[in-house]
Amino acid sequence: MADVTYKRCYFDWGGRCAYCDVGLPRIKWDGKVKASIDHFIPLSKGGQNSRANRVLSCYPCNLAKDDTDPRETNQWPHIEQRLAEIAASRPLSHGQLKRLLPELVKQVYVQAPVVLSPDEREAIARSKAAAERGEFATDEQVRAVWAKHGL
Ligand SMILES: [Zn+2]
Repeated sequence: MADVTYKRCYFDWGGRCAYCDVGLPRIKWDGKVKASIDHFIPLSKGGQNSRANRVLSCYPCNLAKDDTDPRETNQWPHIEQRLAEIAASRPLSHGQLKRLLPELVKQVYVQAPVVLSPDEREAIARSKAAAERGEFATDEQVRAVWAKHGL
């Protein structure tokens, strides 16, 4: 895939997986493919290989979606809407992408360097709410989280 196609797709989707919203700073890291481009309407089902049918996807979501046809399942209305916006917008030039991408990558990377599970996201939301009420985690709770991440 042409590099500029990936960059344009990356920019169109704000550097995040369209399906699960995880931040995707680079195509590969740790030697594994992490980011990919998915054809929203699969090519095998008549989808076009055009900007208006390309979504940025993490690799696991891309594999899981496989050749699901969104016209049959209707499960991603927000993606359809975003694709319509993308189709109506002018693609950035190579020069613009070159200028804007490093900043976006930095933002995405700072905001989401780790893929959190739904449970972990929920735990963070709970602990933020608790902190707002003036409650804090016990040492035991903190140690349990460290142990889980091998710290
Ligand atoms: Zn994903």
